[in-house]
Amino acid sequence: MDTTFCPHLWRAFAIRPNGDVFNCCLSKPAQIGNIYRDDLRTLSKSQTVVDARKRSLAGTLECYNVCNFVKKDIPPEKIPTHLDVKYNDLKRLDLMFGEACNIACIMCKQAAKVDKSQDVLDTSVLIEHIDIGPLQDIALQGGEPLFIPECIQYMDYLEDMDKGYTILTNGLLIDEAMTERLVHRANRVIVSINAATKATHDYVNAGSRFERVLGNLRRLQSERERAGTNLTIIGRMTITTASLHEIPLFIRKFPEFGIDYINFGYDKATVPQYLGKDPGLFGDLRKQTIQALKESNLELIDTLRLIYLGLVPSEMFDSEFFGAFHEDI
Ligand code: SF4
Repeated sequence: MDTTFCPHLWRAFAIRPNGDVFNCCLSKPAQIGNIYRDDLRTLSKSQTVVDARKRSLAGTLECYNVCNFVKKDIPPEKIPTHLDVKYNDLKRLDLMFGEACNIACIMCKQAAKVDKSQDVLDTSVLIEHIDIGPLQDIALQGGEPLFIPECIQYMDYLEDMDKGYTILTNGLLIDEAMTERLVHRANRVIVSINAATKATHDYVNAGSRFERVLGNLRRLQSERERAGTNLTIIGRMTITTASLHEIPLFIRKFPEFGIDYINFGYDKATVPQYLGKDPGLFGDLRKQTIQALKESNLELIDTLRLIYLGLVPSEMFDSEFFGAFHEDI
């Protein structure tokens, strides 16, 4: 039997701007309820969650085969047999506050929507309906989370509760005051830099300025060194047809950008087909990407999506270091 085991179903939940709760991604595999009506502890025990885990173990999880978020070579001895998970054993919660953003990335499905959703997560409802105590990783995202007042209010709450968090940002709004906050109170900052050069960054992250983002990243890094905190700075490149030629350069240059680790995503609607249509381009890019990785510290690079694109052989697969990201599902 083919496996469809997805470990995220045993440890993660996600909430959309309208309050819909999913286990585990932002739209898959099934909605289990709404945070405006129920608390997360109750929802986490729902039959829908148990059924999804059952399908995952039975080889019938419908979202698995096309998913590029999940690691698919999990050894059988690491696959659980139980279907119930105690709330206190949950690890990750993704909160998508809203779609408002200060830039308009070319691959962003939210930016492309004509009828942009106005839904924004209500901070008081989150505070009332989510017991954050046991959660190890609370990831805040948008749109641009630092552009959304409700997200900033929730950061205030998490900080009052002495709870660290992860923030997924385009990096433009990390001014001096925000640097101070993140250095002392966040666990991880994930910056969608999406390119290795100014020309490509400014084109892909339309409305952004590469030098400003780099300045913010370097200040974050130097303030962290000065304060001696454990903040981790992760650079993300969502690969598009306009930026894929910069994958090797991104691998070589990210330490200069003030980034500790990198990971990749890709635009599923365009990139696989684009590479598939041009074997010459694909072969050259694969060769250059492998060469760049050979010259780099693989422990700092999540190669999962490069493997899914066929740009890296699976034996170069490394990283379990920060698990899956759900922002482009
Ligand atoms: S979409 Fe992927 S990560 Fe999400 S539940 Fe399905 S298989 Fe798991």
